[in-house]
Amino acid sequence: MKKEAMFFHPEEGKIRCVLCPHYCLIAKGNVGFCGVRQCGQSGDELKLFTLNYGEITSISLDPIIKKPLYHFHPRDNILSVGSFGCNFKCSFCQNYSISQHRAESRYVPTGEMADISLRNTDSIGLAFTYNEPSIWYEYVYDVAGEIKRRDGEHKIVLVTNGYINEEPLKKLLPYVDAMNIDLKGDGEFYKSICLGKLEPVMNTIRAANGEGCHIEVTTLLIPGENNSHETLDRLGDFLASVDRDIVLHVSRFFPRYRMKKPATGMEDLKKAYQQLRKKLTNVYVGNVSEEEKSYIMKQ
Ligand code: SF4
Repeated sequence: MKKEAMFFHPEEGKIRCVLCPHYCLIAKGNVGFCGVRQCGQSGDELKLFTLNYGEITSISLDPIIKKPLYHFHPRDNILSVGSFGCNFKCSFCQNYSISQHRAESRYVPTGEMADISLRNTDSIGLAFTYNEPSIWYEYVYDVAGEIKRRDGEHKIVLVTNGYINEEPLKKLLPYVDAMNIDLKGDGEFYKSICLGKLEPVMNTIRAANGEGCHIEVTTLLIPGENNSHETLDRLGDFLASVDRDIVLHVSRFFPRYRMKKPATGMEDLKKAYQQLRKKLTNVYVGNVSEEEKSYIMKQ
């Protein structure tokens, strides 16, 4: 559904979107980099509209450890929903069919989504995941607010790339109990592979961690792209400067979408795990079997 967006202003006869650090300047009829925010006429004014409000492409009851969140109600399930669109263009995207395309969706109004979530007794709350929740902002904000007003104990979770500006982040955080934020690589990796920037993601991790929200971080380890000793050193140093006890998931890469490199080898994962473990208390490996996990995490 099309709905007026929350973070924009008019500029040079166009609309400047200030939701995320791309700061798209959008002419009438066009969409921003994420493909889901469109500049349009409303009366005699230009405005910005979100195109994916309430549009659900995926809904599923998942174990919360699949998000992954290991230190936040790890034995529970959480109802998980997603829409379409993303503000990155990662060539290795694991969910490209909904992140990079206008996937088929069903409109679910705010109150109905809150009802579905609150009635599900097998779930501790609602996770906004699968595609990027930042660019689904208005719906996430409305549904999370509605749920918290009706039941403050019902958990709200975001699985996000962290590419959001400070003002919208701070407005949403009071409703959010836990986040898993991707930290994908160094500045060059963000620039060339995701078409974004590293610094705003670091700012999100710092800001969210300081707001009493439970934070875990995920790095998908791609051989030859983000697993050099220097890159992992900087990543570990940054996270340790936020909180040495922050949870980091180092995930195994498998070829997907446009990135056809071979899957991450066990030795690369083990090396990364051992290096990061020297800087951080809670490092886990993901996308591996239990047997592989115990081999890698064996001290
Ligand atoms: S949310 Fe979309 S339109 Fe807005 S600045 Fe980011 S990429 Fe551009």
